[in-house]
Amino acid sequence: ALHEVPDVSVPRYVRVNTLKLDVDSALLELQKQYSVQKDNLLPELLILPPRTDLHDHPLVKNGSIFMQGKASSMVAPALSPEPGWEVLDACAAPGNKTVHLAALLKRKGKIIACELQKERIKRLNNTIKLSGASNIQVLNDDFLNLNPNDPLYSKVKAILLDPSCSGSGTSASRLDHLLPSKAEGKDTDMGRLNKLATFQRKALQHALLFPAVERIVYSTCSVNQIENEDVVKSVLPIAESNGFQLAKPFPEWQCRGLPLNAWFGQIQPSMARVSSLLCLKGKMPTFRDGQNKMKL
Ligand code: SAM
Repeated sequence: ALHEVPDVSVPRYVRVNTLKLDVDSALLELQKQYSVQKDNLLPELLILPPRTDLHDHPLVKNGSIFMQGKASSMVAPALSPEPGWEVLDACAAPGNKTVHLAALLKRKGKIIACELQKERIKRLNNTIKLSGASNIQVLNDDFLNLNPNDPLYSKVKAILLDPSCSGSGTSASRLDHLLPSKAEGKDTDMGRLNKLATFQRKALQHALLFPAVERIVYSTCSVNQIENEDVVKSVLPIAESNGFQLAKPFPEWQCRGLPLNAWFGQIQPSMARVSSLLCLKGKMPTFRDGQNKMKL
């Protein structure tokens, strides 16, 4: 073809849903057909050869494994909710991170999954059903309209905020410029980016209002500074005045963003996701620095 997209040879990552299957059993099962390795950052992540098509694999169909990229799989572990906690997923559909949170909670505690779009609630419910989690309450609502002082949220200790974004870090978007039809206009629409950034900033500020919150993870699959560093930077003074500080999850992870020096994420052809973790002072999760030596 004239406009062939280059072979970026991105591995296929799968996250083992530990609510249904343990990692070693998943590994053994997948090894019957594929060459599989464990990821050295996230214990629940397995790496398969690029372009492995798993859509019809029984383990995918029965919810034992989820096809979820590494960058996306770093977000819930960055929040590291402890079993028993109440967690709010502010922008939840289709629910990949919601059910990852459920696996980390080990069936103890509760997740409130909020999603604005009615038509995306079905997808969210399907993901939850497939995961086997039974401690997730779905809310079809605007996160910005949730009243943080409602008793329903009085025990929410951790918030995962993965808001709508431009998606400029996804592989499709990052390779778009190679396609002649998409060569112009990609993410040059500053009006759209400003609108997204305004929402993202409001949502992060709103997350800080929940009375019992100790940790907030903010993540996007955009590589635009305006949707990432700028959002966190603008909210940071308010956060700090409420006792929060930026944390550095995955200390061994080398791909970090601009000077806030608190970003983690994956910059590789498959997906660039940038995320940040705000923690109440003294409430920082312990990250295993140095235990998992990265092969970079
Ligand atoms: N965290 C999800 C996952 O890992 O599967 C992906 C979330 S997606 C990037 C953002 C979601 O936020 C969309 O489903 C969108 O409809 C929803 N959303 C946008 N604005 C919202 C709002 N004000 N309140 C709640 N959800 C919202």
